[in-house]
Order: sequence, then structure tokens, then C-alpha cells
Amino acid sequence: MRLTADRVARVVVGLRPYRPGGYVVRAETLGSKRVVHNYGHGGSGITLSWGTSHQAADIGFAGEGRSHAVIGAGAVGLATARLIQLRGGKVTIYAASLPPDTTSNIAGGQFHTSWLYEGSAVDEAWKSGFREALRLSYRHFQAYVGGPYGVSWRRNYFVSDERQDFGPLSQSVADTLPEMTVLEPGQHPFGRRYVQRFTAMQIEPMVYLQALLEDILLAGGQVVVRRFASPQELAALPESTVFNCTGLGARALFGDATLTAARGQLVVFLPQPELDYNLTYGATYIFPRSDGVITGGTFERDNWSLEPDPETTRRILAGAAETSALMRGR
Ligand SMILES: Cc1cc2nc3c(=O)[nH]c(=O)nc-3n(C[C@H](O)[C@H](O)[C@H](O)COP(=O)(O)OP(=O)(O)OC[C@H]3O[C@@H](n4cnc5c(N)ncnc54)[C@H](O)[C@@H]3O)c2cc1C
Repeated sequence: MRLTADRVARVVVGLRPYRPGGYVVRAETLGSKRVVHNYGHGGSGITLSWGTSHQAADIGFAGEGRSHAVIGAGAVGLATARLIQLRGGKVTIYAASLPPDTTSNIAGGQFHTSWLYEGSAVDEAWKSGFREALRLSYRHFQAYVGGPYGVSWRRNYFVSDERQDFGPLSQSVADTLPEMTVLEPGQHPFGRRYVQRFTAMQIEPMVYLQALLEDILLAGGQVVVRRFASPQELAALPESTVFNCTGLGARALFGDATLTAARGQLVVFLPQPELDYNLTYGATYIFPRSDGVITGGTFERDNWSLEPDPETTRRILAGAAETSALMRGR
């Protein structure tokens, strides 16, 4: 890994749509409209996008040949729109911004759940729905591996100084974490440390979101660039079923005060096509992709600033240097 300051291509910031109570999938009636919410995926929105969109479509799909509105064109809105088409419905996406200008484009793109909810704030029913969503996503994403979608399988290594076993949540979805195992010192090239290893899909958001948007357009989907300021504005839409996939935008649009920004800053280095594994050590993760080597790890709750912070950049650079040195066994 050559993660030196002279190889930095860009520094980016994204605001995760974080709800301590986890993402929302539910329907409500708004005047003559049925609104199906599908938002609040925290640090796991790429991973869960197909799963919660299947769940949203199950409760809100209006029928073959019927018109549906989807608000939002991030990973969640695009998955929802495509599933409506695959069920035989018509779809128009309304979104204030399109790929490559969504939070989903900032994501690291690891198929893994993190920063999704606060332990005490979700009940067993939510967790069971979450496990179902994760499994649905895990199956659906596999249809995109190996094609022009920027999805591939790869090894992931979580390195730690002390032994850490996979937690109960990971154990309960072990079928979505193939090859999961804990490696002891001597069983890996990361020195005298412990390693959680598993294989996961890596999604390249820049490639994937564009390809998915093109699929939707090819299948007759419409796209309208538009920002909604209130639910009342939705009332004027011609579609009677509206899927709300606005991510963090749902806070202002639907008044969900429990939804907040969890800021993440990333440093992107020049690509290194020879790197074919993901590595995490402490607060630093390193995901090599075709558009660059993504490094990061910040999670700043209630921080709404989209400006890169130089001190955070410095810390990420230091973490990247330390983490990449692990491969040399230090
Ligand atoms: C640094 C960072 C790293 C991450 N890494 C990962 C990862 O490795 N794996 C993973 O699974 N997840 C990751 N995430 C989380 C992931 O990016 C989000 O959970 C996901 O992008 C949420 O998708 P979304 O479609 O709900 O929202 P968005 O991508 O934000 O899309 C929302 C859409 O709604 C539109 N919209 C919003 N408000 C309105 C309005 N009022 N009117 C009209 N349109 C509106 C927007 O314009 C946009 O089109 C990461 C996030 C960050 C910031």
C-alpha cells in the first residue's frame, strides 16, 4: 500500500442518515397518497438498500402497470425504483440530486453493517426485520457481481491488538459473512495481532449507481430533478403511491427529528489496482477501488459540516500509514 500524502487524489465528506432507532420502513396515508418510508440507513445504506427496498415494495407496491413515485436517487431510491419495475410497475424518480452527487456516492461501499442503530433503541422485531433485509440484500447484490456494475467479492481483514471474536449480531447473520474466522498470530502476515477475516462484496458506488440508474432509464423509468420542501408538495404529484427514499432529507421533509447527520470524512488516494483486499485497524479502514484507495473511519454524530477538516485529514493520513505498515509485519 502506497498511502502517502503526495498520492492523495481528493478528500470528501458525507453525512450518513443516522437514526438511533434504526432505519424506517413503513407506510402512512397523506391526503389521497400512500407514502412508503424507506430511509435512515446510517452507515449501512449501500449494504441494506436492496433488502429494505424489497420490504418497502412488499408493503407499498400498487400493482402491475400502475405508476409510482420514488423520491430520492441514492442507493435506496434506485433500488426501490428498480424493484418496482421488476414487479411490473411504472416509476418516476424525483430527486434534488442525482449520482454522482448523492451521499451514496461518498460511501466506502463495503457490504457490511456498521453505525446503523443504538443497541438500546431497537427491539427484537426491528432486529428480526433487519436480519431479513440483510439477507435479501446479500442475495440481490450477488446478481450484480462480475458485470458492469462495479460489484466484486473480496477478502476483508479486521486487525486488532487483542483477540476479538465476532459479536452476537455477526454470529446471527453468519450466512452473509462467508469464510468468517478469527486468525491467531502466525496465521496471517499482520505481525503479532489477531484478525477477524471474512469475505464480502465490495460495491464501487460511482460505477454501481450510474449503472443502476441506466437500467432504470432503459426500462422506461423517468427522472425529474426536483427538491420538495414539504409533504404538501408531494400531494400535487400525479402518482398516488410515493416512496420516500430521501435519506437525511427525510428529517426536514417529514419532520423526523430523531434522524441526524453522522459525518464521515474520507481521504482517497490514487488507485492501486494490485490491491485486492480490505483492511481495517483501529479507527482506520482501507478499501481499494478502481476510482482510488478509500481510507477513513470518522463518525461524528450531529455534525452537519460538508467541509473537509484539515486536522481530520492529518489523522486519517497517520492512520493509513500505520495500517498499511501492518502488512510488513510491524
Ligand atoms: C464516509 C461514508 C462511508 C460510508 N461507507 C459505507 C459502506 O462502506 N457501506 C454501506 O453500506 N454504507 C456506507 N455509508 C452509508 C451510506 O452512504 C448511506 O447509508 C446511504 O448512502 C444512504 O442512501 P440513501 O439512498 O438513503 O440516501 P442518499 O444517498 O443521501 O440519497 C438521498 C436522495 O434523496 C434526495 N433528496 C433528499 N431530500 C430531498 C428532498 N427534500 N426533495 C427531493 N429529493 C431529496 C437526494 O437528492 C438524493 O437523491 C457510508 C457513508 C459515509 C458518509
